[in-house]
Amino acid sequence: MTSPDDPRTEETAPLRVAVIGSGPAGLYTADSLTRQQRVPVRVDVIDRLYTPYGLVRYGVAPDHTKIKGVARSLQRILEHPDVRFVGGVEFGADVTRDDLARTHHAVVYATGASTDRRMGVPGEDLPGSVAATDFVNWYCGHPDSEMRRFVLDSEEIVVVGAGNVALDVARILVKTADELRRTDIPEPVLEALAGSRVRTVHLLARRGPLQAKFTAPELRDLLELPDVDVVVDPAQVDIDHTGIRGDVARAARTNLRLLRERAARPPEGRSRTVHLHFWSRPREVLGSDRVSGVRVERTRLDEGRAVGTGETFDLPAGMVLRSVGYAGLPLPGVPFDEEARTVPQRDGRVLDARGRAVPGDYVAGWAKRGATGVIGTNKSDAAGTVRSLLEDAPALLAGSPELVDLTEVVQGGGDYEAWLRIDAAEARRAAELDRGERVKLHGWAAHRDAIR
Ligand code: NAP
Repeated sequence: MTSPDDPRTEETAPLRVAVIGSGPAGLYTADSLTRQQRVPVRVDVIDRLYTPYGLVRYGVAPDHTKIKGVARSLQRILEHPDVRFVGGVEFGADVTRDDLARTHHAVVYATGASTDRRMGVPGEDLPGSVAATDFVNWYCGHPDSEMRRFVLDSEEIVVVGAGNVALDVARILVKTADELRRTDIPEPVLEALAGSRVRTVHLLARRGPLQAKFTAPELRDLLELPDVDVVVDPAQVDIDHTGIRGDVARAARTNLRLLRERAARPPEGRSRTVHLHFWSRPREVLGSDRVSGVRVERTRLDEGRAVGTGETFDLPAGMVLRSVGYAGLPLPGVPFDEEARTVPQRDGRVLDARGRAVPGDYVAGWAKRGATGVIGTNKSDAAGTVRSLLEDAPALLAGSPELVDLTEVVQGGGDYEAWLRIDAAEARRAAELDRGERVKLHGWAAHRDAIR
């Protein structure tokens, strides 16, 4: 209902916005749009998958149930009467930018950063050297992931990188299947983990403990695993930290304190071990027809950057997981900065090659700022983009007065009801298996079956 003082009237045509991507960036954009009172809006949130929530569903580790709880607040956004979920529709394939010009006044790209960065070392493409994104997709049951993709038949694994994703994959690798049983991890993944031969994970951090990107709660999760020895070389964490200041410094100091406490404790002969190697970067992935190890070079800091010292050592490994950050992929018909691997923008407005704003095109989240920050970072990020979009609203409304509904342009796809059917099927699966609240269905066919 609108009040007489409300600038929105029944006659005012709503501003129609298509948001591409239903992860936190896309849904916080929808939230920001529907919360404001200046302009009436209708938001279509379009996703390639039949399931919403992006990385909350297919990135956050299954045992991080508290973070996964964010899905409940994202659900409220999706259930807003002015928001419509359109799943199973891929931008660029099922619907193009030109199509959306007939259906919406504006498009917000919130497609994240769906691929991995590369290490740039010889041997990187040997079988057994894989992107952490592949491994994460697998254990999260992403429909693109083949469930037989990973057989954990080697005792030692090297994880490259010192971010939260590296800690996630290391932790999942050393947890027992029993510890993961009550999570939503797909059944075939749980079976593969139950048969895992992995006993030792080496994590390579190319800089020191103060420069590690992982955060203290995630570090604690690893340090507190009951049946895992986390080994830290005291010499690698015995460094001066008096020169660092500010908030980053506080987080880094906490990491350093936790690592020093651990370094002071000898390993206790637990069944699995994680070695945290600081000042260590990969020089080469070793092996002839598949990965057999990693040649590691010691590093030191030079103006904040890691530089090699020339001293090397070899670690045996049957698998190498590179977890050195995520990168964006170009979207058809949308400008892309190949270097930053993001959509070029100013205040959320997409810029063309000459630095001019592309009318009606906006960007939010990782596609805008790169793969940094936590889920909550996307709230203020999306709000910034929405501010620009609303400033432009009068011109956008005047620019395309005659629009048709998305359903006239896109056939097929799923809606919110379709997602609820998948959701219910996952709850039933969990009940059948006596495995907690949800067990993920896996594969596109399973999703389509559940929808039917
Ligand atoms: P990230 O935080 O950017 O960490 C990437 C790591 O890879 C850094 O330690 C980086 O070292 C290292 N690296 C980069 N290039 C390298 C190379 N060529 N050789 C060796 N090491 C290299 O990325 P991420 O772990 O993928 O995480 C992405 C974002 O998601 C982050 O914002 C993260 O906090 C967030 N996330 C959060 C959670 C959580 O809150 N629980 C969980 C998962 C992800 P340098 O620092 O030296 O570049």
